[in-house]
Amino acid sequence: MDPIERARRDVVIANRILAQQKVLDAYGHVSLRHPLDPTKYLLAVSMSPGIVEVEDVIVFNMDGTPAEPETRPLYLERFIHGGVYEKRPEVMAVLHSHADDLLPFSISKTTRFRPVIHAVGDIGEDVPVWDIADRFGDGTSLLVTNMAQGRDLAGCLACNRMALMRGHGFVLAGLSGSDLVRLAVYIPRNARVLMNAMRMGEYKALSRGEIEARLQLDITSPALKRGWEFWAREAGCGHLLD
Ligand SMILES: [Zn+2]
Repeated sequence: MDPIERARRDVVIANRILAQQKVLDAYGHVSLRHPLDPTKYLLAVSMSPGIVEVEDVIVFNMDGTPAEPETRPLYLERFIHGGVYEKRPEVMAVLHSHADDLLPFSISKTTRFRPVIHAVGDIGEDVPVWDIADRFGDGTSLLVTNMAQGRDLAGCLACNRMALMRGHGFVLAGLSGSDLVRLAVYIPRNARVLMNAMRMGEYKALSRGEIEARLQLDITSPALKRGWEFWAREAGCGHLLD
């Protein structure tokens, strides 16, 4: 199959899985880096992730302009994707989600988000929190609506896999589409487990050594890719896998 057609289908699969798993709802978006031109990425036009079709996925330049003629509305926050791809050459997939399980950790002044279940050990020890007001003042809509804001968010993400966005959501960087989706499905679960454990009292998070061991896992192994195929079928888009 033509690699661009494959990538378009994979963007649809990622959208459908993350909607079905409630990581995305009517809002939020997920993209893949262009398989042949690393200066571009593929993202749907502005629509709810659960109804994205192959023809809705178009190619964007890093600055958020469409690389092909397009008259349909575009996501206001598409600059998140270009900001991350531009700064992180190894990143092949980007997600922006408003999943509310994460939001308490984006506004807490005392408790930080950290991996407490094995499946998300590879988000790393530090999950930075980006506050749009730090650089852009207290009069923004909190939305990332231009490249300056996208680049500032990517700067906060730095070399991490995930950054929380204060009072808004999070951005996640993946080494592949299946790597991103696997982490994204488990991140809200990690948030719920952590919140419940804090209600019970003291808890134990993954250690630095355990996080390092998770980071050494081969993301192309069948075990780590299993979720992609299973969740795609659950989301009713198994026919796009082939
Ligand atoms: Zn948003």
